[in-house]
Amino acid sequence: MFNKAELTVPCPDCGQKHTKTIGWIQTHDQFTCERCGERIHLDHDHLLAGLEKLDKTIADLRKSLGSFGKKR
Ligand SMILES: [Zn+2]
Repeated sequence: MFNKAELTVPCPDCGQKHTKTIGWIQTHDQFTCERCGERIHLDHDHLLAGLEKLDKTIADLRKSLGSFGKKR
């Protein structure tokens, strides 16, 4: 669902921001910064943890919308 969503991964060395899609991040462990050549390790647990939360938030929102509808 979020595979085409984009995340910004800043280079820890030079601060260059790299925009990558979730699908791309899931299939790569690291990439090389185009600006300084630094190898950037992609911490999947850290990067994707926020998305799971987002997913849960949407599920909760749907749930509360559902119960809101039932009141009438
Ligand atoms: Zn860099």
